[in-house]
Amino acid sequence: MTIPPEAAQSFVSKYESLVAPKEKAVGEAWWKLATTGSEEAQKNMVEAGKAYNETFSDEADFAEISRFHEGRASLEPVLRRQVEVLHRTFEASRGDKETLENIEELEAKANSIYGNHRGIVGGEEVGENRVREILRHSDDEELRREAWEASKTVGREVEPVVRELARLRNKVAREQGYANHYLRSLALQEIEADELEEIMSGLENATDEPFRELKDSLDEDLKKKFDTNSVMPWHLFDPFFQEPPEQAGLDTDEYYAGGDIERLTIKTYDNLGLDVRGVVRGSDLYERDGKDPHAFCLHVGRDFPYDVRVLANLRPGNPDSYWANTMLHEFGHAIYDRHINPSLPFFLRSVAHTNSTEAIALMMDGLTEDPGWLEAVANVPKSEIDEERLAARRRADGLVFVRWAMVMYRFEQALYEDPDRDDLNSVWWDLVEETQFVNRPEGRDEPDWAAKIHVAVAPVYYHNYVIGELVAAQLRRYMESNIARGPFYLSESAGRYLIESFFGPGARDGWRDTIARAVGEELNPDYFVKSLR
Ligand SMILES: [Zn+2]
Repeated sequence: MTIPPEAAQSFVSKYESLVAPKEKAVGEAWWKLATTGSEEAQKNMVEAGKAYNETFSDEADFAEISRFHEGRASLEPVLRRQVEVLHRTFEASRGDKETLENIEELEAKANSIYGNHRGIVGGEEVGENRVREILRHSDDEELRREAWEASKTVGREVEPVVRELARLRNKVAREQGYANHYLRSLALQEIEADELEEIMSGLENATDEPFRELKDSLDEDLKKKFDTNSVMPWHLFDPFFQEPPEQAGLDTDEYYAGGDIERLTIKTYDNLGLDVRGVVRGSDLYERDGKDPHAFCLHVGRDFPYDVRVLANLRPGNPDSYWANTMLHEFGHAIYDRHINPSLPFFLRSVAHTNSTEAIALMMDGLTEDPGWLEAVANVPKSEIDEERLAARRRADGLVFVRWAMVMYRFEQALYEDPDRDDLNSVWWDLVEETQFVNRPEGRDEPDWAAKIHVAVAPVYYHNYVIGELVAAQLRRYMESNIARGPFYLSESAGRYLIESFFGPGARDGWRDTIARAVGEELNPDYFVKSLR
């Protein structure tokens, strides 16, 4: 079938003018909700989301874009890619109107529950920052246990919403011929389920032994420290064991004492020749009541100059490694968004894939464990940088992350296979025990899985962090061998290379081609796996 390019072009242009203002409105509404948490903002967010989705509800137009999509081989590459992106956007928004509206409402509701819920520790309401602080620093076992439990109470409140979301998402997926939402999401993300399984189980096998060794040695330390025979989740370092405990004798928070995380972020990107001051100006970086306690980067619309904002919860008097890491991460997303070639057509003026933008964010946040960056950029005296412990910490980070991501990956598959099963709590804990080697508290039967915000509002996303890590390792190695010929974070050539080879092309090619073009070979997990040895 040959498609007249003028017809495809005029269809794409028509949709550009329909989508642009609505997408921008969603961005504005999202920002307002996250920075105020108000009921009015929540309503506006739901409205904006509905209006956006309605743009793609025209059946005749869907039939037309499907026809272009089928015959896209005859189109020139840039137009062909726009047709692919637009077709996927249509597919992603399809479903019966009522179900889609329900999903929007429930997602907004879940977001507001996570944003407003406070656990109780010592009779006082506490936010996530406080829980994290206790699990990182407290020697008081009772307090730790209380903080850990407090971090999970949101699970009970939000569980019915999460299950209902999973049911509704599955309903939409089945109507479109997919077995469930998990598989539909992968297809819409242009990721092959089999290939992903291969990557994930490959990583699981590669980490089995080293992770077992690591966990055993962590357990030995914790047993001594807390004078106990059995290490429990609250002895660990964060509510989900996403991170390893600090190496004994290594307190990375000290590196930032008396410092200024906002300035450090600007300086880090300055060294790459990438100016983030414009993003900082539009951002909301400091902790405040009523504000979403998490962190994210948001681009509002696609007009040039790009409006890119970061939300974070820095505490000015209390800089620590968590926020240093998080700021470098979110600003990694931000520089990518800011440097997409503005002359690309609207639908290609975005990142190549969520895993490509995660790759940049992860490559940047990894610097907080890099002795060279700590010395040269964070100005930590060399004598205070314990290279050996930092290397052990970096390796531990990778191992702990892979095992945690595996839990999320497998749990979400189970959730979407059957959101009604009544043993989800133990499905979760079985995975945690088998994969992370973390003991289940005796008799625990709580929806701890629902306390993880991603399960509710960023479903079928975690593998993008994993692929992101693989790409980050591969990209960094490539830049340091071929472009910077030294640490990439001190190289303006590396910054220029990122703009030209990775950010600039936007979504002109698929994510695999974007990577292959940037580094001259296909995605290769070996670089990441090697870093764990
Ligand atoms: Zn990210």
